[in-house]
Amino acid sequence: MKQVTFHNTLSRKAEPIVPTKGNVVGMYCCGPTVYAQAHIGNFRTFLAQDVMRRVLQTAGYKVIHVRNITDVDDKTIARSIEEGRQLTEFTEHWTQIFHADCERFNMLAPQIEPKATEHIAEQIAMIEQLIQRGHAYASDDGSVYFRVSSFDEYGKLSRLKERQLLTDAPANDTPVDSDEYTRDSAADFVMWKSRKPTDGDVYWDSPWGQGRPGWHLECSAMAMKYLGNNLDIHSGGVDLTFPHHENEIAQSECSCGHEKKFFKYWIHAAHLLVDGQKMSKSLDNFYTVDDIAAKGYPPVVLRYALTSGAYRQTINFTLDTLGAAQSALVRLKKFSDELLAEAGLKRASVLKEIAKGKHLHDDWDPFADAWKKLTHDMNIAGALGAIFTAIKAKPGPEALIPFHKLIFALGYDLDQVVIEKPKVDVPEDIKILAQKRWDAKQAKDWATADALRDELAAAGWKALDRKDGFDLEQL
Ligand SMILES: [Zn+2]
Repeated sequence: MKQVTFHNTLSRKAEPIVPTKGNVVGMYCCGPTVYAQAHIGNFRTFLAQDVMRRVLQTAGYKVIHVRNITDVDDKTIARSIEEGRQLTEFTEHWTQIFHADCERFNMLAPQIEPKATEHIAEQIAMIEQLIQRGHAYASDDGSVYFRVSSFDEYGKLSRLKERQLLTDAPANDTPVDSDEYTRDSAADFVMWKSRKPTDGDVYWDSPWGQGRPGWHLECSAMAMKYLGNNLDIHSGGVDLTFPHHENEIAQSECSCGHEKKFFKYWIHAAHLLVDGQKMSKSLDNFYTVDDIAAKGYPPVVLRYALTSGAYRQTINFTLDTLGAAQSALVRLKKFSDELLAEAGLKRASVLKEIAKGKHLHDDWDPFADAWKKLTHDMNIAGALGAIFTAIKAKPGPEALIPFHKLIFALGYDLDQVVIEKPKVDVPEDIKILAQKRWDAKQAKDWATADALRDELAAAGWKALDRKDGFDLEQL
């Protein structure tokens, strides 16, 4: 098995992944909040996580991938009420669109995709444990807050204390009850929100009265439920480091009496800028996969553009990068086509074997350098450079499996890549010959048609018949 290394936000170091249990890597990814179509900034993170999983699988690990669906929070409730729709119907609609987009990007579906609204009992149970252990308290209005001062290690992921010293931010003891907040201070945060008129008919009964869970709680409860014995990788966008992930750690570690560390490796993908700025609808730089497809670029091209930069660095996306991505993919597809034609194999069947783990040997020649880069903190740009260098040297049939293992790890659906044939002017006499052949064929004069076919071939041309006519191709 090949060692795979990732930068761990918790230690601020690159660390080899050593699973808690044998060969199995538990991987929890904070999923989408389903109130609108995910934009390319969201997909930058989801795609980085997809490559992460694919690299681990290609290295021989079995990955249990859990990605939640946030189907209740401030935004989903507000939007569904605005549109006059039931929350479940509203979130189901956007969940389906998210799944369809993931498929177009050729992302592997997580084995477990829990919804927040289907795990209310687990969330209530976690709050009860936290109250019992003195880490949480109910307020007069029936909300429940996590007591940050009860957890000495609060801030260990985001290095909150150091940042506070640096920014000299005043300590703020007012509890926070919104799902999203950004201030760099340790304030008690809400885990159970008492029912408010703005919640409409969205509420559940609890020991503290009617209400709903806070956003941070769902990931804690669902990660503990599904990966409690495989707390290996937890991942999300860098903006989730604080407060979301910090709060998840606090809730989870305190609820189990500090018996378990809530995930060993925290991996964060950086932001995406578009034309040098944060994406926003008002700046007209807000894109979804549909917007890019409408410009003539299939999702695989967008996938290439969004993943080929270092995942821990902010990338600046511009429409110009799509042209370069397209031509890089054409080179990869041509090379794949050549290898497959030589071997008499189909791309789909080779990739299927790889996905099933049939080729887990460590024979990477002539792509050893590319694989090494991919397994070292997912250096995709470096890996692509090494792939193109190796292709230039025109390797033989031995390249087939290692090359397609890399294509699997990078997740490119090469069948989406369109290779445009260069337009060739057909000489007039060839056009006349071909027309005569077509006419003979229509008249069922097979002998003449065959003779004209041979004449065309001798001149280096071939007629490709359609129902209503023919195209000409150079031999
Ligand atoms: Zn989360």
